[in-house]
Amino acid sequence: MAFEEMWETLRPIGRAGSGGYRRFSWTAADRECRAWFVEEARSRGLAVERDRNGNLFAWWDVEKNADASVGGLLASAASLAADAMAGDVHGEPVTGRRDAVLTGSHLDSVPDGGAYDGPLGVVSALAAIDLLRERGAKPRRPLGVAVFAEEEGARFGVACLGSRLATGAIDPARARDLRDADGVTWGEAMAAEGYDPEAIGPDTQLLSLACFIELHVEQGRALTAPVGLASAIWPHGRWRFDFTGAGDHAGTTRLADRRDPMLPFARTVLAAREAAMRHDAVATMGKVRVTPNGVNAIPSSVAAWLDARAPSEEAVRATVADVRAAAEDAAGRDRVEVSLSEESYTEVVDFHAELRDRLAKALGDPPVLPTGAGHDAGILSAHVPAAMLFVRNPTGVSHAPAEHAEPADCLAGVEALADVLDELACR
Ligand SMILES: [Zn+2]
Repeated sequence: MAFEEMWETLRPIGRAGSGGYRRFSWTAADRECRAWFVEEARSRGLAVERDRNGNLFAWWDVEKNADASVGGLLASAASLAADAMAGDVHGEPVTGRRDAVLTGSHLDSVPDGGAYDGPLGVVSALAAIDLLRERGAKPRRPLGVAVFAEEEGARFGVACLGSRLATGAIDPARARDLRDADGVTWGEAMAAEGYDPEAIGPDTQLLSLACFIELHVEQGRALTAPVGLASAIWPHGRWRFDFTGAGDHAGTTRLADRRDPMLPFARTVLAAREAAMRHDAVATMGKVRVTPNGVNAIPSSVAAWLDARAPSEEAVRATVADVRAAAEDAAGRDRVEVSLSEESYTEVVDFHAELRDRLAKALGDPPVLPTGAGHDAGILSAHVPAAMLFVRNPTGVSHAPAEHAEPADCLAGVEALADVLDELACR
């Protein structure tokens, strides 16, 4: 079946020695993933588009002579004209698809991420189109597959950057200046791939979708059936702590004379765990940058990132406030400066209830569950009806090389996605 073939061709791209993936935006691995997608889409006769924000789309358009009535043609000509009038200042060709059904996910990864997070949604979307064609189904409205850029935020720090840009959820100027660990900006990185960084920003075609459906591997152990539906995404965010002390010699500096930023950092990590337990949240400090990072040198500064999530905004805010208080207290005791900045925050997402009910009916009432993981579907849901299908994760491991889904469950996911797309786009 096409699913397995696609999976096998995608599998080696960006795979690290750990067995996990390093598919970071605008790197060679990312370029290869994009080329893979374009080739798979073209081989299916889908119209491939790239938007101004680094996202890719493959469209299965309504066949012109199928059921486009005269009225329908006039309507689409009118909406094309409206787009032209709206004046795309950057001269991007506007295809003017209206009321399209979009599915898909992302191909980038966290450092040493698993094979399924993102790619499962893209591969399943293409396989679902194959299945619809086998069944003889035809879209009555445009049906697209999206690959969203920088979903993990692994290189530039802001998750779902491609969908945030396309929906206007992030200021283009801020996005342009986001920097990776080497100081390269998002604007510079995309310019190197032939994009115009001055042209990034909201995309009318995306904002006029009929709906967006993202299939994704479940990332905990909450799903016991092969396929489920999402109810909500917990509010979540990322905060950066900068501890600044004084670099010095590890052998000759008396303990009493030190201003070692590693000490308050360490206390902050522990405080994050305690705060999370207090507020029924989850909090993680999984990224740290030590300067100068020498074994025989007291660090001069430590930058560390907190990821906090909970079922409610109050719990997230209370957790972060507690961690901040602990960091400031610890820094004061060690004569270290500390500052905190919020790099991103995403409010709770309650997925479109009517759409979810429709999908539940089409799929025979599968389990419905919330998730603590952020997704492009969550960003899009602020503007268009969005829903998510989850595929069972037997161990619950995710964002790690051992992430897994059973082949039979993946195929059940493709079937379910095809059923849903049939219902939404072909009837
Ligand atoms: Zn993902």
